[in-house]
Amino acid sequence: MKIYNTLTKRKDEFVPITPGVVTMYVCGPTVYNLIHIGNARPMIVFDTFRRYLEYKGYEVRYVSNFTDVDDKIIKAANEEGVTSEEISTRYIAECKKDMEGLNVRPATVHPQATKEIPGMLDMIGTLIAKKHAYAGPDGTVYFRTRSFPGYGKLSGKNIDDLQAGHRDIKVSGTDGKEDDFDFVLWKPKKEGEPYWESPWCNGRPGWHIECSVMARRYLGDTIDIHAGGEDLIFPHHENEIAQSEAANGVPFAHYWMHNAFLNIDGVKMSKSLGNFKTVRGVSEMYDLQVLRLFMLSAHYRSPLNFSKELMDSAKASLERIVTAAERLRRLAEGAEGEVPEAGKETVTAAEALLTKFEDAMDDDCNTADALAALFELVRLANSAVTEESSQALAASVLSVMDKMTGVLGLITKRQEELLDSEIEALIEERTAARKARDFARADAIRAELLKKGIILEDTRQGVTWKRA
Ligand code: AMP
Ligand code: ZN
Repeated sequence: MKIYNTLTKRKDEFVPITPGVVTMYVCGPTVYNLIHIGNARPMIVFDTFRRYLEYKGYEVRYVSNFTDVDDKIIKAANEEGVTSEEISTRYIAECKKDMEGLNVRPATVHPQATKEIPGMLDMIGTLIAKKHAYAGPDGTVYFRTRSFPGYGKLSGKNIDDLQAGHRDIKVSGTDGKEDDFDFVLWKPKKEGEPYWESPWCNGRPGWHIECSVMARRYLGDTIDIHAGGEDLIFPHHENEIAQSEAANGVPFAHYWMHNAFLNIDGVKMSKSLGNFKTVRGVSEMYDLQVLRLFMLSAHYRSPLNFSKELMDSAKASLERIVTAAERLRRLAEGAEGEVPEAGKETVTAAEALLTKFEDAMDDDCNTADALAALFELVRLANSAVTEESSQALAASVLSVMDKMTGVLGLITKRQEELLDSEIEALIEERTAARKARDFARADAIRAELLKKGIILEDTRQGVTWKRA
């Protein structure tokens, strides 16, 4: 299997550190808002890659963080007059609901920055002891970027070129910073901000240190794969490498994978530009399986533009897959024994398509080509498996289809439609739960209905509903 490695800038053969085990770290979202569908891209593509590694027999230790201390969280908390913790706890829970809707499996561990402060203090202490970091007069701790000779090896940037251009670096000029390129590991608290005690000042961590610390704690000093969106290559991942390698004295990650942007009207979707659509918002118009299929329709390193046309086309494609799978399931009922001679050719063709699927996934997780193999299988199933075919043949083609859709994380069982009366009863139960201030139950009912394609809307006149 080959992976395009941002570090070596070529496709490298994948060889894990420990045979049979893969350690993988994926940078997760900053939790101050509902996640947008740009954030969902790394979640979906790396979840798919994880599923494929497991399909190939690896045990995958998958860690993805929640950044729960950050300026934007503090700002949101101040605006609402609540604590940062309240904001981050709320949006972690919301993010997990979206992940479930997208069929993104929970990570082995989802660490949170605020719960990893002792590890951060430890790593910062080591960096100071090794002269890779220093504290300024106000207690801010900086990483001494020029002390790490490998700086720039991931992004291909060279410190001196950066200095000439000054484009990617914020110049400080204040506060005892030795060099413009030094970056913050720990900073003093400001009024009204969450803080922790440290040997340098009461304060909070810079952003980059959390990932170095969490990767080390949960996966080890050297990990197999580190992933995230391509906007993180510089400075976030470059800084992670500098911190980890300077502290631990060994390579940080062997393979670096970066997904390209999800764009809208050709521009990166982001919270700061305000051009984003939340996963939750999209879930009101489409089954989130459609969004998952849409994301996998392009190679993860190609930019992908969100549009209604492409989403509608993904919806139709999903429908074709689900219809074919449901039909095979019906035709396979009660299957036993070998596929008779007449079906052997179809079995061979299905197996060839599985090989094609695996070849695509082995080639740097090419989900676009893998999906093409799945669509060929759908066509084969629809033409070569008929009402007259043996159940064993249907079961054999279905098992190939299940392998492919399992790797892609696509659910192919049609949700049973709820009757209007069942929906009304659940809405009544939700209204009663809300009256009793049992919001957890009320939310659970809403989520359950959403899963079955029923969208609730709370209006002044009461609750209305529609089918997605
Ligand atoms: P953030 O909350 O901005 O730190 O982002 C969390 C993850 O989403 C990171 O891996 C980002 O690289 C990724 N990400 C954010 N916006 C986009 C986008 N428009 N397209 C693809 N990935 C994105
Ligand atoms: Zn990170």
